[in-house]
Amino acid sequence: MIRVGVNGYGTIGKRVADAVAAQPDMELVGVTKTRPNYEAEGAIRRGYDLYAAVADSAREFEAAGVGIEGTLPDLLDAIDVVVDCSPAGVGARNRSTYEAHDTPAVFQGGEDADVADASFNARASFDVARDAESVRVVSCNTTGLARLFAPLDEMYGIEKAHVTLIRRGGDPGETDRGPINDVVPDPATIPSHHGPDVNAVLPGVDVDTAALKVPVTAMHTHSVTITLREPPTETAVHDLFEGERRLFSIPERAGIDGAGKLKEYAMDVGRPRGDLWENCLWAESIHVSGRDLSLFQNVHQEADVVPENVDAIRAVATDVPAAESIARTDEALDVGLRSLLADDERLRKPITADD
Ligand code: NAD
Repeated sequence: MIRVGVNGYGTIGKRVADAVAAQPDMELVGVTKTRPNYEAEGAIRRGYDLYAAVADSAREFEAAGVGIEGTLPDLLDAIDVVVDCSPAGVGARNRSTYEAHDTPAVFQGGEDADVADASFNARASFDVARDAESVRVVSCNTTGLARLFAPLDEMYGIEKAHVTLIRRGGDPGETDRGPINDVVPDPATIPSHHGPDVNAVLPGVDVDTAALKVPVTAMHTHSVTITLREPPTETAVHDLFEGERRLFSIPERAGIDGAGKLKEYAMDVGRPRGDLWENCLWAESIHVSGRDLSLFQNVHQEADVVPENVDAIRAVATDVPAAESIARTDEALDVGLRSLLADDERLRKPITADD
């Protein structure tokens, strides 16, 4: 059993905690909170042991009548791996604490790449974690691009990729983010930082990225054009994507026209928190012209990095091979959404009352 602690129980941390708790080879020892708010209550309701992230706040938990098992150092002494899900930039400040406790760490994409020994994406760079004491799971956008690029690069070779990232302004709970009525180039400089971040896990891929922020909270949208070294057919591209469990093709007949209906679909199929762990590709957007492949995909910023964190834990703590770890993670979480209405009838499952 890999004993795991989650430091920072917010948007990403609570999802990673649930995903860890669902793995048969992992034990979630505890999670930290800075204060006894609604998320702390959520952790208690799920039966997770709570630790104070900051020693000074222990009294606040006591005053609120919220029992804690100890503080962060107590948690670090009881685990094999810590997953740092604190706000961007705070992880770098926590690093020395983890090192002092000799606790291997998994950081998030809000940190600079040098926070960890290596940057991690399960599909693109699992093995970099083998000799690493710490890894950084790349951001939600970078994860989405790495998952898409890795199989295409293996099959056809990527000569050049151009991506426009239409980024959600903030997560649903982030009342202080925006814009609320604009489309803002962010960053206004081109290329954006996303391309170099992709190269942290896929160093050989030539990619230019440009990014905008828009007033939505549900998901990011990527408009992608890739010049491949060998010309593909559209059917072959569909088949390639079908073989990737962390890619979900949205069939045209499903009538899902945007992120709103995608999230609704995720809730209808019973996904916890309406989470979409997979990249969501609009099947009818997949277009081939010579060696150029174009498509739209959406990534659920709160969810796509979650299975990657689970694999990152196994990568730093065990010798489990990449494919086996990915399969275990996907099996335990039920990653691999497939529509019953797939455009390609070979891929369509019969609809039964139970579905
Ligand atoms: P969040 O603000 O929702 O959660 C962070 C949690 O950490 C909060 O509960 C906060 O109280 C707690 N915290 C604050 N200071 C702390 C400390 N010193 N020690 C421990 N915990 C502390 O943030 P988030 O969206 O979950 O982001 C966490 C990380 O994941 C960031 O690096 C972010 O860039 C990255 N990330 C976020 C998203 C996203 O869309 N939300 C997607 C991918 C990656």
